[in-house]
Amino acid sequence: MSAYRNHIAGWRDAESGRTFRRTDPADRRREVGEFADSSAADVDRAVTEAVVAQRGWAARSPIDRARVLARAAALLDAAAGDLGAVITAEEGKTRVEAAGEVVRAAEVFDYVAALARLPEGGVFASSRPEVTLRTMRRPLGAVAVITPFNFPVFVPSFKLAAALVAGNSVVWKPSPVTPLTGIRVLELLLEAGLPAGVIGYVTGASAEPGEALVSHPGIAAVSFTGSGAVGGLVERGCAERGIRAQVEMGGNNAAVVLADADLELAAAAVVDGAFSGTGQKCTATRRVYVERGVADKLVELVGARAAALRVGPGTVADTEIGPLATDAAATRVEEAVARRVDAGAQLAVGGHRPTAAALRHGCYFEPTVILERESDPAGLREEVFGPVVGIQEVADETEALELTNATPFGLCASVFTDNLHAAERFARRAVVGVVNINLPTTGIEPQVPFGGLKESGRGPKELGPRALDFFTHEATVAVRARTETTTLR
Ligand code: NAD
Repeated sequence: MSAYRNHIAGWRDAESGRTFRRTDPADRRREVGEFADSSAADVDRAVTEAVVAQRGWAARSPIDRARVLARAAALLDAAAGDLGAVITAEEGKTRVEAAGEVVRAAEVFDYVAALARLPEGGVFASSRPEVTLRTMRRPLGAVAVITPFNFPVFVPSFKLAAALVAGNSVVWKPSPVTPLTGIRVLELLLEAGLPAGVIGYVTGASAEPGEALVSHPGIAAVSFTGSGAVGGLVERGCAERGIRAQVEMGGNNAAVVLADADLELAAAAVVDGAFSGTGQKCTATRRVYVERGVADKLVELVGARAAALRVGPGTVADTEIGPLATDAAATRVEEAVARRVDAGAQLAVGGHRPTAAALRHGCYFEPTVILERESDPAGLREEVFGPVVGIQEVADETEALELTNATPFGLCASVFTDNLHAAERFARRAVVGVVNINLPTTGIEPQVPFGGLKESGRGPKELGPRALDFFTHEATVAVRARTETTTLR
């Protein structure tokens, strides 16, 4: 088994010498590698290096920094197959999904690199003679990037690209579930020309390195994506230190199907939204509200598609649903489904861990469709992070909208309808960060902002034309320059 190390201005073991292991979720007998189990001492060293390296990086022109990112984009794109294979081995998603994730991360690097060429401020008139006012964006310093397991390349790409092009240095702490994927991304960034000290990489099995980053006095801001529980801790830790936090967290996303919808299209989008990535997407469709007249038909269409999905190792060409990332995750999903059934819901498809001998050593769960008679308040509060979707009949559009918003989360939502007015009403009234019309709840493009509200996200959004805002401060510069040959007073 291969051993991998942190990257702190060069490859280095954890100071304690401790390591942890990661196994393949498709077959837990296979080990992916052994990684540095970092402590606060390793974080301290990484932040110290990043603080020093940031000065030289910030002194380079934004266009020069953007060139490094554009090269990284090309390298990522070319490595989609190889890097995708690492994602599959570590996280479990299928090869097609994994390679697709890498290609989309390359698009993020490309897009964010292009932002460096856009105006970064404005020029303003002053009330004082001979004075011009202008604004410019300045980097914050060394920032922390803390990322989840489920998109081990795509989610980090939002944060790394924006932080770096803006002139910050980064200490990145990946999920303990996907440490090898991060190492491969880091290697590509270094190959693209990123100076070694500008990005530190610190792995760990426990919460210690993440906590140490948030509380480290050298860290100027934290961009975090992950669960609500940890996001809350990160946010409070940053508030105590008076630094910025960008926290993107979970979702419990609804899809509404109105009676006039194209039901084949809606069913395909619900199945895609609920089960792609084995349902381990913050944007996944968890709840479907369907108008009464078409409910039976929609349940039949979704059920047939869900039951036909092929579950298996992500390395097998015709697999559509890979394993969950860990055994603990599969157990959590199993328990959540059992609680729904206890609360009165009915299983339409799946609901269990598969029993096939070939899947015995993996963290699999069947694609599951649950029929909900009425909304379970506990279910509305919970994010079941796996291939599970609930379908509930509603009387009309108004009830569907109320239920869509009756959750503490606010990440994304979809509506399926041929009625322009109903679609627009939904877009304006759904309390979410992203609304999809006749499309799955999933799917992100870098040109537009991404993020949630309520318990799904707080702080400035990621991506879109203002992606650099979180990682910069806007400085106002007042310039007094003699424009006439008179004497200044
Ligand atoms: P997680 O919260 O368990 O872990 C996220 C990261 O935080 C990991 O790197 C982890 O090691 C680190 N961490 C753990 N304890 C910490 C602490 N006390 N202080 C600082 N860092 C700490 O999340 P996960 O299970 O890896 O990811 C799944 C979650 O992420 C889901 O809730 C999903 O919805 C969410 N997610 C959200 C988005 C989004 O953009 N909104 C995108 C992807 C995933």
